[in-house]
Amino acid sequence: MTDIVQEYLDKHSDRIDVEAIEIGRDIIRESYAVLAEQLGEGPWLVVADSNTWEAAGEPVGEMLDAHGHDWHRFEVEAQPGHEHPVCRDELIEDCRRAMERHDCRAGLAVGSGTVNDTVKMAAHRAGRPMGVVGTAPSMNGYTSSIAAILSDGVKTSQPCGAPRVIIADVEVMAQAPMRLIQSGLGDLLSKPVSNSDWAISARLNGTPHSAEAMEIIEEGAAALQGVAPKLPGRDREAVRGLVDSLILSGIAMSVAGSSSPASGGEHLISHYIDMTAHALDQPYDLHGCQVGVGTLNSAFMYEKLREFDPSTLDIDSRVDALADWSTYDDLLKERFGPLHDAVVEYAKPAYPSRSRLRERLEKIVDQWDGMLADAEQTLRTRQSLEDELRSAGAPTRFRDLGISKDRAHRAIVHGKDIRNRYTILHLCWELGTLEKWGAEAIELLYD
Ligand SMILES: [Zn+2]
Repeated sequence: MTDIVQEYLDKHSDRIDVEAIEIGRDIIRESYAVLAEQLGEGPWLVVADSNTWEAAGEPVGEMLDAHGHDWHRFEVEAQPGHEHPVCRDELIEDCRRAMERHDCRAGLAVGSGTVNDTVKMAAHRAGRPMGVVGTAPSMNGYTSSIAAILSDGVKTSQPCGAPRVIIADVEVMAQAPMRLIQSGLGDLLSKPVSNSDWAISARLNGTPHSAEAMEIIEEGAAALQGVAPKLPGRDREAVRGLVDSLILSGIAMSVAGSSSPASGGEHLISHYIDMTAHALDQPYDLHGCQVGVGTLNSAFMYEKLREFDPSTLDIDSRVDALADWSTYDDLLKERFGPLHDAVVEYAKPAYPSRSRLRERLEKIVDQWDGMLADAEQTLRTRQSLEDELRSAGAPTRFRDLGISKDRAHRAIVHGKDIRNRYTILHLCWELGTLEKWGAEAIELLYD
């Protein structure tokens, strides 16, 4: 599989910043040559939190010492009041300053989501290269050139450089906390629905679609076959399949030039939970765990869509019932509170006039069969997705994420307001069925 990964990296090198990816068992001590080739001479800043240092810090330090390579350690501390670190502006600045203070020529992240994103952005701001030694197969963002950053209390996605080199040691990854492994599976199992979202958006809105990215997604899905039930036993081959699939998913996003191949309405639900968690101090879970439950909601909504008879859609009454923008904006103010300004930036341009909504609905009815056929190409049933998540012990209910029933319903109903990407949530809203189907989804998927 590493060969296929490297093949795609070479084939699409114009669109992918990552130069080298090594995947295998017990490979950290042998990875000096590839790291040095990509990160260059001079001291490196090795960045980890206490958990990720324990997972892989020692072999990284020993490998550098064995080659006489100068390095400095930077420890990422947990966010005050939180169990884990959060990638936020102050932390990125601390890391960047440490890089400059020690005159480090490059950054080396030892970690997964948070540590990787912190070093990506710090190195980007310092104008230096970085690489990552992954410690958990928890998400597909290793290869991406964007970082998820908490900025002034609002969770944002900001462009930066991608790692030049990624070392994914399957032995280390297999020993990651089980919830992180389940999160990686959840992030990947969104594909059947996020690809349907992408396909209907291409049909209804002319969003660019990429057959090349879809080919890589298919390859990633093949790597994931039969993996889920073997994850609780930390089966090395299964973890290897998960890692391969996560890396391929990341490459597909780079090739498509957007996260659309791997992110649709289910991700909006997760982003909603993250956003409100940090701004309003409410509970949240790991990215992929939230995405997994969001995926079951999307699959449920596609099943409702399939049962829906478009000839029964009363376009006149749907259009008449549309609130004007200022009324809807009042609702957003009430629902989002301090996040309102951040949300309105996306929600306002997406909010249609009555004539615009009428046009949209006529188009949707006209394109109905083709739209469903496009969606069907990648869709799977809610039950099969749920069975797969469950076989790995991953969360399948909103309650498992620690969030209230009300907040889960709002995540479904208002997820559409927080990003400018058309998904099944937007389609249901246009049809006027989002509230109702969302309530049904909660009945089924809350506990
Ligand atoms: Zn994701």
